[in-house]
Parts: sequence; structure tokens; C-alpha cells
Amino acid sequence: MKSMTLVNIMPRLGGETTLPTGLLYIAAVLENTGCQVNFRDYQVTYEGGLTLQHISDILDTPDETIGISCLFNALPFVLHALRVLKAETPEKTIILGGPGPSSVAENMMQAFPYIDVIVRGEGEHTITELAQGVPYRNVKGIVFRSGQTVITTSPRERIHDLDEVPFPACDKIDLTQYDHVGVITARGCPYQCAFCEVAPLWGHHTERRSIPNVMDEITFLHDYGVTDFHINDDTFVLDEKWVLQFCKVLQREKLDMTWKCNGRVDLMSENLLRAMAQAGCIGIQYGIESGSEAVLKRIRKQISIPQIKEVLRMSIQYMDTIANFMWGFPFETMEDFYETIYLMGVVAEMGAQVSLFLLAPTPLSGIYQDYFHQLKFSEELISNLFNVFDGLSYKEKDELFHMIREYPHIFSGFYHVHTAHIEEKFTVLKAAGFI
Ligand code: SF4
Repeated sequence: MKSMTLVNIMPRLGGETTLPTGLLYIAAVLENTGCQVNFRDYQVTYEGGLTLQHISDILDTPDETIGISCLFNALPFVLHALRVLKAETPEKTIILGGPGPSSVAENMMQAFPYIDVIVRGEGEHTITELAQGVPYRNVKGIVFRSGQTVITTSPRERIHDLDEVPFPACDKIDLTQYDHVGVITARGCPYQCAFCEVAPLWGHHTERRSIPNVMDEITFLHDYGVTDFHINDDTFVLDEKWVLQFCKVLQREKLDMTWKCNGRVDLMSENLLRAMAQAGCIGIQYGIESGSEAVLKRIRKQISIPQIKEVLRMSIQYMDTIANFMWGFPFETMEDFYETIYLMGVVAEMGAQVSLFLLAPTPLSGIYQDYFHQLKFSEELISNLFNVFDGLSYKEKDELFHMIREYPHIFSGFYHVHTAHIEEKFTVLKAAGFI
């Protein structure tokens, strides 16, 4: 393959732009094969939210192959635009990847005939083989179309030596256009949280880069003028020894950069938080999920309320601390729900910033497997919770909602698990100003 257009379809979050690290990794390996990459990113091209016209415009390219990465919230938009694109230019090859399409690949290929290939999971080796022209049947980790038949190849083994992966191709973008720059030091998570599809997607297994390799990338970013970065790992703090050593090296290098990361309540200690703060860490966020011990147990979170309070108390002393909560678990009683609201108040009072999300029953999660028969789509809920639809006309919104209703198992992230109390909880949250 001589050239390929790579497109990141993602709106700005809160008006801010985020470096598409995952797709820039793909751009880097593609260029190593000699393929010329035409890189496009929606969020730096268009300031507003997603619109169907802008997505069609950004996909308009002379290249014969288009690789698209998106999260689940942009999927209906992308599919709508691809239907038009494929009708006009059937000779183009459309490859989809990223966490959105990856977990529902077979269902999507069956439902939407205008996608040619979906890359499942880690894409670097897969895209290299596709660019080299390896026949689809021999490329592991994809779902592809052969005539009327959808074929799934065997899963691809995880990349064990992440140091072999080239750094994201930052020469393809203008780093100064990004408010948030991410670095990935490890991929995967060994935990079993029942609402999560990240850990199953990675096979509940973590691979980590070496500290010198991560430092080379951070120094590279520093030399490009980046002064603050976010460590995007799902569980950065998993290996305390690694993190302490990383902090030591970062401090020693005196790059004078600040950073933020994701923590996990059961893995934190005062010693670790202190070392992270001394190395420039100014922010940490935790998935708290619920204020009910019963719910925490059901979702296999492996943390307790006293532990949450203690770790948040310690964290707040060292850095900005965000506590993320969730509502709408199918087994969450009204009492559990009020315990969550109460704990949110307690930790906010302590100085944490709190956020609350409706449970998204994503396909690889344990909750989805157990409760998919209770999925329900509510226009009122999603119109309140997903502002990605704000830029659409009434007719366009109607078309996308129709698509979402037709394929609940593909767009389950827009659904909720219906229980007797969901409306009551929604009313409480609206009245309290959470929504
Ligand atoms: S929610 Fe976080 S800690 Fe739990 S399984 Fe998912 S990535 Fe791991």
C-alpha cells in the first residue's frame, strides 16, 4: 500500500483537544512500512461538535484506503457517513479500529456492508500486515468481508515487548493544537470490574514499557515544548516498584514537567503519592463507582468505603483529585443510590472533584452479558447525557436514533439497563443539578 488516510473521529471534550495517541502509534508503524500517511483529526479540524457534513468532508480523500478510529459515541455518525461514502466510491477500502468498533466487530460487519475490515484490539502488527498486502485470511485479529460472507480471523497475540513499538508519529500533527497530551506506559489491566470492557479487551493482562523507553518519549515531547502530560494507562499504579523508579528518574532528569494519571484506591500508599507529587504529578483520578458496599461487591471493584475515604484524604493533600462515580447498576437499590450521592457529598467536602456517569452496558463487560435482555433506549436520557448529538438537525438525529434503536447490541453504550427505579433516580439527579 503506497498511501493511506488515517482519520480520528472525536469531538472536543469540554471544548478541549486530546492528542489521538493510539492512532498516532498506527501512523508511525505504517510509515515504517513505507506507506505514506495522510493524518486527519476531527477535533483540530472542526471546533464544534460532530456533524454529519463535517465527517463526510474529513473522510473525503484521494487515497484508496481509509483507516478510521473512533470511540463508541462517534460510531453512529461514522457509519452514517460511510454509507454515503461507499455508495459514491465503492472502490475505496474502509478499515475501522479503536475501542468502539473492536468489541462489536462481527455484529457491525453483518449489519453494515460498507465496512471492509475491522481491526480488533492492538492494531500495530495488524495494520503493518494489511499495508504490506498480506491476504486478509492470513492477517490475525481482523474481521473482513469476502463477497457476502463475514470472516473472523484468529485473535492476534498481544505485543509483549512494547519498547519495540515506535513512538506516536507526532510529526503528523501540530502538537501546539492539543490541550491534552497523553503518554501510555502500559497496556491492559488484570482486574475484573463487572462494568468494564477495557480489561477483557486486553485479556486481563498488562504489558509495560521500560522506564528508559518511556523517558525517551517524554523527553521528545519536552523538546517539542510540551510541559504537561497525562499518563493514559488504565492502571498506571499497578506496579508500585516500577512507578517509584519512574518517579525517581523523572525527578532526576529535571524536565520541569507536570503530569496526571489514573489511580486505583486499593493500590495507593502515602509513600507512593508523595513520590509521584515530588516527580511533578499534579492530578489523579479514581474510579470509585459507588457509595454502597453491596454494589462495590457486586461489581467486583475490590475496594471498600473506608479505604476510599482514606485514600482520597491522602491524595487531596498531594494533588488535584477526581472521584468518578456511576449510577444505574441493575442491582442498585434506591438505598444504594442514595449512599452513592452521600459519598459524593462527603468526598467533595473533603476537596475532591466529583463526576457522575450513567452505567454504559458495553458488550464485553460482565454486566452486559448478564443483563443485555434489560437494555433500554431512552431519548430523554441520552439527549441529557450525550451532547454529541447537539450539532444535528432534527431529521439527522432521528436517523441516528433509528440506527441506535435497530442495533442495541452494537450501540449498547447509548442504552441503560432498565430497572424499576431508573426514572426515579434520573429525576433525583436532575433536581439536584447533577444532570
Ligand atoms: S475499571 Fe479500571 S481497574 Fe477495573 S477492570 Fe477496568 S481498567 Fe481495570
